[in-house]
Amino acid sequence: MKKISLIIPCYNEESCLSAFDCEMEKVVEEMKEYEFEILYVNDGSSDHTLEMIRRLSSQRPYVRYLSFSRNFGKEAAMYAGFSNVTGDYVAVMDADLQDPPELLPVLVRILETEEYDSVATRRVDREGEPPVRSFFAKMFYKVINRISDADIVDGARDYRLMKREMVDVIVEMGEQNRFSKGIFGWIGFRTCWYSFENVERAAGETKWSFWKLLKYSMNGIISFSQMPLNIASWMGVACTGVSLLAIIFIIIKKLALGEAVQGWASNMCVIIFIGGVQLFCLGVIGQYLGKTYAEAKKRPHYIVSECSDAQIKKIG
Ligand code: UDP
Ligand code: MG
Repeated sequence: MKKISLIIPCYNEESCLSAFDCEMEKVVEEMKEYEFEILYVNDGSSDHTLEMIRRLSSQRPYVRYLSFSRNFGKEAAMYAGFSNVTGDYVAVMDADLQDPPELLPVLVRILETEEYDSVATRRVDREGEPPVRSFFAKMFYKVINRISDADIVDGARDYRLMKREMVDVIVEMGEQNRFSKGIFGWIGFRTCWYSFENVERAAGETKWSFWKLLKYSMNGIISFSQMPLNIASWMGVACTGVSLLAIIFIIIKKLALGEAVQGWASNMCVIIFIGGVQLFCLGVIGQYLGKTYAEAKKRPHYIVSECSDAQIKKIG
């Protein structure tokens, strides 16, 4: 009997969990030929999420859980999930029903009958999302696909069913600055894309503010591309080139026309401009250095303060 493991990151999801559990129970009933393991990861919620998860785990034999000592973020929650599940097929699913559990039978069928190692889902529209956010999201996907080899599809969700081999590789990739959408694409394997229409959150609110998303996307770019560093170098080359031309121009002008020194204002503009470019480039280098610092410290991705069974790694 094959085993399906589902990882459910939860951060203040008390209003969604019972609906999620209901939907999930239906799917488990429907797919009797598979063994299930549902691992809830409580990411330092400040509401009653943990109590609800505890109750679910005492009611349902297939539910396991672990609870972080504080909020470590969805990426850490997914990593903790991947490190602790044991199934042959593994998927991450949001607790807010935006990753429809009823798709699971379809995804499993694709994995079983076709030559794929994973089935990834993407939403074809962004209905119900603020237009500004959609615009920036689209821009982000364009930019990151052009400047990195992460291969990220617009609208891709973290909801994808993967075979064991892929999960083992993901756990091996222990980088601190995790950007799972990029990691999934970067490791390769044969992926089938399954499109579905956007589903709005069942209850509660999104945990991603615009700034959080912006930070996350910057992290994605820095984790998967060195293009910003290249841009900084090329800006240096361009500035040097332009200033060389300017020097030649000024010397010739002086020799030919013998004009006296003038142009304090334009001089100041150039100095301030170059100063800005230099600070910008330093900032870009600083971003990479900061990430390197975080990697060098090798701190754990997560710390568990409570869990359902002894098999769960407390630090990882
Ligand atoms: N989440 C988490 N830690 C966080 C933020 C979010 O575990 O710091 C979980 C959240 O509980 C949900 C999933 O990640 O199950 C997706 O979050 P959300 O629905 O807020 O994101 P959106 O769907 O709006 O992109
Ligand atoms: Mg959501």
